[in-house]
Amino acid sequence: MSSHSIGIYGGTFNPIHLGHIGAASEVRDYLQLDELRMVLSATPPHRKPPEVLAENRFLLLQAALQQYPRLIADDCELQRQGPSYMVDTLRAIRQQGAHRDSSVLLILGAEAFSSFMSWQHWQDIIKCAHIVITTRAGFSDQLGDSLNDYIEPYITTDKSQLKQLTHGKIYQLPVSAIDISATEIRRRLKTNEPVEQMLPENTWALIHQHGFYTR
Ligand code: ATP
Repeated sequence: MSSHSIGIYGGTFNPIHLGHIGAASEVRDYLQLDELRMVLSATPPHRKPPEVLAENRFLLLQAALQQYPRLIADDCELQRQGPSYMVDTLRAIRQQGAHRDSSVLLILGAEAFSSFMSWQHWQDIIKCAHIVITTRAGFSDQLGDSLNDYIEPYITTDKSQLKQLTHGKIYQLPVSAIDISATEIRRRLKTNEPVEQMLPENTWALIHQHGFYTR
């Protein structure tokens, strides 16, 4: 049994919204993780650069998590140069002496996992962490043949293995459907439609104060 468990929930968080927070909180509670780190993808490798700078997206994330103290805002990808590759984040955690024997769980929505094979050194990710795949409202749970073939040897339905082993398992976990996306929030902000129900209050206040996403 590993002594400590760390969930890693990565995202562009452009901006952070209640869909991210709901899914991360449910995984944390259901798997009884010791920590859940929300890792901001500062320079996302697979999309065009977000219009709001990483430093400002991180401010929005920090503001949001003041209301959710069991989730930690993690700026480790802001501290590195170049594209924000998840494999580098996971390797860095593993290299910290304190976390050599921790269970590390990378949490991904099914739609994010569907492009997994295009990620930098994707085969190494399972050597550093377990992968928890969550459902996402509005997206199919079907992963495609090559991903299904890939996950088969790693898949487990026994959540206790995620604590017994430090890495190397894939677990599918349905979460409550919250049909929110950052794309929809950005669209609404540009057209002056309401978004208050989709965001933590502190995040909405900062977006409003700075006029983010409206130009
Ligand atoms: P965008 O619309 O800009 O693509 P997004 O809302 O999909 O953004 P990301 O930062 O790209 O957010 O997603 C980070 C992670 O959060 C991914 O693993 C994604 O599957 C998950 N996620 C995003 N929105 C939801 C939601 N409403 N419910 C559950 N998971 C979500």
